Amino acid sequence: MTIGVGKDVISYCTKCKLTLSHLIVSMKNESTIGKVKCNTCDSIHAYKDPSKVKARSKKAKAKQINPNESIADIWMNAINSSKAKSQSYSIQKSFQIGDIIDHPQFGPGVIDKLIDTDKIQVIFRHNIRTLVHNR
Ligand SMILES: [Zn+2]
Repeated sequence: MTIGVGKDVISYCTKCKLTLSHLIVSMKNESTIGKVKCNTCDSIHAYKDPSKVKARSKKAKAKQINPNESIADIWMNAINSSKAKSQSYSIQKSFQIGDIIDHPQFGPGVIDKLIDTDKIQVIFRHNIRTLVHNR
């Protein structure tokens, strides 16, 4: 198989975080690929040999074995990095990203995202939930 500018190549996409089909944009030399363009997200980045990336993604996978633990870690970091004072949750209140709420059922949580004017994504100790607010 010959490689060159304009040819398709399988590369790891740094944006999609997946091994995907890419278009070669530039070559470092005759046999070394320089930059590639992702056919999925159109981003141009350095060619990443998927076989070399695999070793790293294996480690990441091992980390994900216990999903409860990783959510707990995210939750802990979010709670620790928030300077907001904990407040009780109510659908009538309006919350901002980083606010800490105390939910009667799920316990303390941190507002992670404003999904809509009346919906928030909240990280709790054991899971991430969408709640209604600002009603
Ligand atoms: Zn991509």
